Amino acid sequence: MAPSLNRIEISRSALRHNFRVCRRKAGRSWIMPMIKADGYGHGMVECARVFAEEGAAAFGVAEAREGVRLRRSGIELPVYVLVGMVPEVIPVILVHRLTPVIVDGEILPEMSRQAVAAGVETELHIKVDAGMGRQGCHPSELLSLVRQVRELPGLRLDGIMAHFPMADEAASDNTWEVFARFTEAITGIAHELPPGCRLHIANSGGLFHFSRTSLDMARLGIALYGCSPDGGRPPASDDEILRPVMRFSTRVIQVRTVPAGTGLGYGQTFITDRLTRLAVLPVGYEDGYLRRLSNRAAVLVNGRRAPVVGRVSMNLTLADVTDIPGEVRRGDEVVLLGRQGDEMIGADEIAAWMETISYEVLCLFGNLNDRFYVD
Ligand SMILES: *Cc1c(COP(=O)(O)O)cnc(C)c1O
Repeated sequence: MAPSLNRIEISRSALRHNFRVCRRKAGRSWIMPMIKADGYGHGMVECARVFAEEGAAAFGVAEAREGVRLRRSGIELPVYVLVGMVPEVIPVILVHRLTPVIVDGEILPEMSRQAVAAGVETELHIKVDAGMGRQGCHPSELLSLVRQVRELPGLRLDGIMAHFPMADEAASDNTWEVFARFTEAITGIAHELPPGCRLHIANSGGLFHFSRTSLDMARLGIALYGCSPDGGRPPASDDEILRPVMRFSTRVIQVRTVPAGTGLGYGQTFITDRLTRLAVLPVGYEDGYLRRLSNRAAVLVNGRRAPVVGRVSMNLTLADVTDIPGEVRRGDEVVLLGRQGDEMIGADEIAAWMETISYEVLCLFGNLNDRFYVD
């Protein structure tokens, strides 16, 4: 199969660097890299290998099948399954020694029965809704759930978790409020918890803006992939600088010059007002380069910014390279995300053009295109 002209490069050294920045920040708290969504588009297995070498304590995925993929790739660390604990996945959880996160007691008797039949003990974590308003048990249900786990054979409570809804906003009081609700719920039942029961609530925003919330473990995603949890404000100090991990490039497939007054592409949403040199790029919304980037984004050509003009279509995009110094030729590399020469386009900048957040940009680009790993 011929390679695509669109190429995602993932820098292993940037992953390592970001892990080390987070580890310094986390102090004695363990780090659980979140590698759901195929590692936020960076490739879950490859990222897990790097993070494991750097000292990750466990990995977080959404569904059990992602955990199976990690096990089949030889990853031995604990894998937490955060979403989708339905009865059908119990055998998968047991066979692959995954750690389920449960939100109510409904599934527990069956899980206990199967664990006992298989002669294993399953560690599990309980998720409390301490203010996210999404998934989890109510803090008032925590005690009965803890007791239910304790009384059922084959099950062992290994931890209790919650999730912050607004830790990306450093100035908001919400995170301290949610944190207080979580710690109060735990304090009230502390005497009922097994020894070594791990508490975790912090995500990247929690670690960076409210580090005291890291407790026993921080569950980190976006910071490990090199984006700031708050959408790109400068870090508090130099040793907190994260490095972008993903670079997305394509190649010029045609260079053409059109006169002033030429309508470009579907809907003719851009009419040239001068003699215009265009680079035609083989990238479009199929590749995650969303249509919303039409007449908004810029790309890097010869280390300079060239505006995207006209509609982004399924497989084609136009860049205005009239003001780019030097030759622009068919086959030249064009960078959509990342660095070229002295210029850089970050995931947060693209996210602003797309009216979304860096997370979505990384998932789209990374999971829709061929990835290559560099050191
Ligand atoms: C994805 C996820 C995280 C990581 O969030 P980031 O903001 O990417 O650090 C943490 N906890 C849970 C429950 C998650 O689903």
